[in-house]
This record gives sequence, C-alpha cells and structure tokens, in this order.
Amino acid sequence: MTRFIFITGGVVSSLGKGLGSAALAALLQARGYSVRLRKLDPYLNVDPGTMSPTQHGEVFVTDDGAETDLDLGHYERFTGVHTRKTDNVTTGRIYSDVLARERRGDYLGATIQVIPHVTDAIKAFVRNDLSGEDFVLCEIGGTVGDIESLPFLEAIRQIGNELGRSQVCFIHVTLIPYIKAAGELKTKPTQHSVKELQSLGIQPDILLCRTEYHLEREQRDKIGLFCNVRSDDVILASDVNNIYEVPVAYHNEGLDTQVCAHFGLNSPKPDLARWREISQSVASPEGEVTIAIVGKYTSLKDSYKSLSEALAHGGIANRVRVNLTFLNSELFEHEDETSYLHHLEDVGGILVPGGFGLRGAEGKIEAIRIAREHKIPYLGICFGMQMAVLETARALAGMDKASSTEFGPCDDALVGLMTEWTAGNKVQTRSDGDDLGGTMRLGAYDCVLEEGSLVRSIYDAEQIQERHRHRYEVNVAYRDTLKNAGMVMSGVSPDGALPEIVERPDHPWFVAVQFHPELKSKPFEPHPLFTGFVSAAYKKATLL
Ligand code: GLN
Repeated sequence: MTRFIFITGGVVSSLGKGLGSAALAALLQARGYSVRLRKLDPYLNVDPGTMSPTQHGEVFVTDDGAETDLDLGHYERFTGVHTRKTDNVTTGRIYSDVLARERRGDYLGATIQVIPHVTDAIKAFVRNDLSGEDFVLCEIGGTVGDIESLPFLEAIRQIGNELGRSQVCFIHVTLIPYIKAAGELKTKPTQHSVKELQSLGIQPDILLCRTEYHLEREQRDKIGLFCNVRSDDVILASDVNNIYEVPVAYHNEGLDTQVCAHFGLNSPKPDLARWREISQSVASPEGEVTIAIVGKYTSLKDSYKSLSEALAHGGIANRVRVNLTFLNSELFEHEDETSYLHHLEDVGGILVPGGFGLRGAEGKIEAIRIAREHKIPYLGICFGMQMAVLETARALAGMDKASSTEFGPCDDALVGLMTEWTAGNKVQTRSDGDDLGGTMRLGAYDCVLEEGSLVRSIYDAEQIQERHRHRYEVNVAYRDTLKNAGMVMSGVSPDGALPEIVERPDHPWFVAVQFHPELKSKPFEPHPLFTGFVSAAYKKATLL
C-alpha cells in the first residue's frame, strides 16, 4: 500500500520544507521503505525554466528532461532516487492541461471549474506514475494562506478524505520566532497558521516547528493544545550546522517515529550510519580550499544550489572543507588587470558555471584566461565550457573574433545555435523563432570519453551519461583548430557530432563540460569531476 505524506508550510517562506521533506524521506528509506518525492508549485509558470535563477533559485533538470524546482535536487541528494518529469507540477501546467482538454472537447460539454476539474487534475498528478512505493512525500510550495495554493490544498484535503488517515498524513512546517525584546519564543504565528489550514479542512497530524532555540515541554504542550495535535507530534526542528545533519537531528526529535506511529507501522529503528558518517566528515575536515565561482547570478546563493552542494561533496570525498567565493564576472571586465587579480589570489580553483546571455561573458573569458595562464585548476560547466573554447580560440588560435551566436551574428561562430539533434530515437529540431520555454537540449545524453584523457581516468569509464540544459553547442568542425591550440575534445556524443568535454593536457587540471555534472552528485556518492577538481584545487592551495 502506498502512503501519502503531504507537507505544507506556514508563517513564512524559506523554512526549509524541501529539505525537511527530503530528510524525512531519507529517514523512511533508512527504515527500509521505498520512497518517492514530489513537489506541487502554485505559481503560474508552466515550469521554472523561464524564471531568472536570481528570483527562484536554480532550475533543476531531471534525467527525462524536465526543468523543475530546486527542491527536487534536495530530494535526489538525500535519497538517491532520481526524480522524473512526473514529480513536479505547477498551476501553469495543470491549467494548460485542463484547458487543452477543454479545447479537445474531452469534458463533454461540462462547465470547467476549479473544483472538480482543476482539483481532479492535481489529484491525478499526485497519484500518477507510481510503482508501488511505500511512501510518496508530496510538498506543497508556498505558504498556507496564499491565494495561489488554494486548489492544491483543496486537492490534498480531498485525497485525505478519500484514502483516510491510515494512508494519508499531513505535516505542517511552521516557524516559532524568538522575540529578543521579550526574550521569548512565540507560538502564536503557528497557531494562526494551523487555524488557516483547519479552515480549509485540513487538520495537520504532525507539526514541524523551526526554531533557533530550544522549545520547552510546556510550550510544545501549548502548541499541541491550541492546534489540536498531540504534543508528541509537535516536533522541534532546530537549526543545524550543515544540511546533512538534518536527518539525524529530525530523527532525534522523533519525526520518523511519529510518522510511523501515525500509520501504525511497527518498523525497526532506522540505520543512520551513512548520515552520521557524512556529518562527521563535514564537521572534521583535514584541510581547506577556496574555490571561486565566477558567474552572473551571484546575488542569490540558491542560483547555484546544486553546484555548491556538489563542491561540498567533492570536499567530503577529499576530507577538506570547500569555501566558496562567488565573484560577479563583470569584475573581470575592467581594463587594468591589477584591479581584479587579487580576487583570485588565495583561490585554489576557478569554476565558471552555467549561464545565459552576453552580460558578464567577457569577464568569464578573462577569468578563464587567468586560470589557464596561472595554472589554476579550472572546471567549466555548460556556458563555462563554451567560454573556455572561445578563450582558447581567441588567445591561442588567432581567432580574435571567435564568438557564440547567442551574442548575435558573428563571423567565427565557434559556438552556435543547435538546430537539430537526436534524443533517444527522435530527431529534435529548433529554430531562432521558437518559444524559449522547454525547448533547450534537456535531460540525460550519452557521452563517449577518449582513451588516455584526464576525464577517462576521472570517470574510470568509456561512456557516461550526464544531464544537459542548453541551446547552443560548440561546433565540432573546430576540433583540429582547438587541438592545435592545446585544447582537446575528450568527450563527444556517441555519433561524434556534439563536443561534450574539452580539456587542456598542458595544464594541471583544466576540464570543461557541456553538461551539468552537479545535478547528479550526492553526499554519499560525490561526483568524480567534483572530487577530481577539489583534489586538484586543494593541491594548488597547499602550494600557495
Ligand atoms: N547559454 C548557453 C546555452 O544556451 C549555456 C546554457 C547553460 O550554461 N546552461 O547553450
């Protein structure tokens, strides 16, 4: 029997609902259950692919090519279960499906309404594409009380009613703020938020209360009393030092025990050795290294969420702490190099991540030049590979006009719009005038690694599969030009048409990839590219 756990949030946003859901799933997994995590997002975009990362954080891409919410990254990192297209839905997607059906005449003349048509579509999504998992954890984005979330809350209320309490559990994540002037933790916002939820017909079974301080037993009793929840089901979620401590911390507060009690499950205690080991390794590094991320979306850390995590995983693998310094690439566009070189002085490695558009691109190319000339380990990701190719072409192949058609028409288009490629057994075609949403090369593609290359030894495999999200592509016709300039295409698509990886054999560690390796890294399975990059950066840092 599949049991559903719905996770809502109240009081304020950014309470770490996604992380909490992922940690609970990890705890259930550690008790031997199979899990699946899903996210319902109440905004109107059909998917987050067209949103600026500085507004909503990074766009997480699944193997099957969906552009999804960054919480799906937490889900994968905590459970190792690969998410799918069917694990994230938005109001925009639900409405566009319902409206398409209406146009087709599928509703046989009915008046289309939020209840039941929209709520039915949401319920169908929640129960779709499952394969007998023990638990489906379904997070509702936003905060209870938002107008946008109403159809989602109504849909989960209905599921609760239809399946009953033995199959459904509602968890509400709230904040217990500390009022400094009064020296007190306040429970009132939680009470209000639960009232709001109750007025929509949902009685939470478990409250997960985020606090910065310890909550006394009597306050928990009070919250329980006012919110109609047993005080054992009022779970304290205090801040922790690093996110990988969350599963153990929540277990110590009884979260998974109460969830199992709710469902009447008498399961053995979870095996948390994996999480204890990871936390221990994060807490006691044997050294440290600073890595500079030279990008454009540096104003919001969540823009580079998976990347930051993957670098931390590389640190876990090498038992070093990885400090990140986010540098706006426009810093490197100044005439006088001495005005910005100091930013990279204590840095063991430079990383240019994924990005879009002309602004800041020249600065990235300049940062790559510094990495190449000063033999600083370099990892380029997606846009960071395209810019690395332009840097080599301009500086070492005499092509000073080398550019990408992403920046407008140009003579030496080393990077160009990809108009046709094969995905599985289907040919995909694109043109300049296509919609921007959902039309990039998305999801997992194979890549063949050249024998004797650095990446071949890093991956220790002949063929790999990595996730993509880009519209432009390095032109394979420049293979020899680049080779003569010291840059080899060490990874290509199986048909040899699309360069996937370039590296510089004359450099201690210079690898740039067209895909996004950060999306597949896990704390218990650090991605080899990040392990290799951090190791090289640490080596460089110890020489500084
Ligand atoms: N803007 C580039 C492209 O569309 C790179 C995208 C990325 O870095 N994710 O190809």
